[in-house]
Amino acid sequence: MTFGYHCEECEEAVWSTAPRGELEWLRNREHVAREVAKHVQAGLDTWIVEGLDFLDRHSGHSVVLTRRS
Ligand SMILES: [Zn+2]
Repeated sequence: MTFGYHCEECEEAVWSTAPRGELEWLRNREHVAREVAKHVQAGLDTWIVEGLDFLDRHSGHSVVLTRRS
């Protein structure tokens, strides 16, 4: 099973290898993750970078967690 984010307004989705719980964490703690990202130059997991990028492009939109099998 693959989890990801889906923007209900743009009908756009991004898929991740990260488990559901981590994606939920990132979405709920987006501001915390951004602070961490600012101070970590390298070694940030790809799914975090891609997740933040997606959330950034769809900030203010209705983004939900979604899955595909
Ligand atoms: Zn959007």
